Amino acid sequence: MDTLCRFCLFQSTEDGNAELISPCDCIGSIQYVHLDCLLQWRRTTDNYECIAICQLCQQPYRLPTHWPLEDKPEPGHDGAWFLLSKPFVWIILSYYLYFSILYYAFPELFKPIHVIVYPQMIYNIELQENEIVEQEQQQPIGNTYPSIYATICAAITLLYMLCYYRHVKALKNKIIYLIYWTKTLDYPFVWNPTKLLFVSIGSFILMCFNVSFGIVYLYLLPEYYHTHCVIIQQMNMDAEYK
Ligand SMILES: [Zn+2]
Ligand SMILES: [Zn+2]
Repeated sequence: MDTLCRFCLFQSTEDGNAELISPCDCIGSIQYVHLDCLLQWRRTTDNYECIAICQLCQQPYRLPTHWPLEDKPEPGHDGAWFLLSKPFVWIILSYYLYFSILYYAFPELFKPIHVIVYPQMIYNIELQENEIVEQEQQQPIGNTYPSIYATICAAITLLYMLCYYRHVKALKNKIIYLIYWTKTLDYPFVWNPTKLLFVSIGSFILMCFNVSFGIVYLYLLPEYYHTHCVIIQQMNMDAEYK
């Protein structure tokens, strides 16, 4: 039986000397491939499974690499990360913020809704109003910041930092990962990591002055997961000899 490349169905490439390799556990007519053909095929897909694992025998490819391949980031193994990367969490947070703004603007109209979504703030405001009535003197309205919201922001940030730390700790090539973090990765729908970091720091500082900015900041957090996945994928692609 002739040994042919699984992809191009030729014995050798155009330059006539490319060796056929057997990169996985497949046997028979699909056992051999040209390294070039395999790499080219893998570069045309953005499905991680196809990049790291043979779709036929389900075994990881055995290829010469510059550095060990990273495991696929599995948000499912990390409960908090998984939860926080879900849009509904961010919809609920937006909902909270939206109605808190409406309540400030039209207190009577939105009070019934607000009793459900934001009892703590109403409690704070009414407490202060009662104090004003008792003392029979005008006081500037202050200290009515939505403290629950601020607490949620802080808790989510801490949770994210912990999750991210665990993901980075599990990496085999931490230094290379760091280098990729500072690189410009032009991927659609993914933030440039460096830009992401700067915008996060900026919005975090703004949040310290005004809690309403917290929602901008929190929206950025799931982007870290997407960026992390893109970097891992890019690192694995670049790890190969080519
Ligand atoms: Zn080929
Ligand atoms: Zn295979």
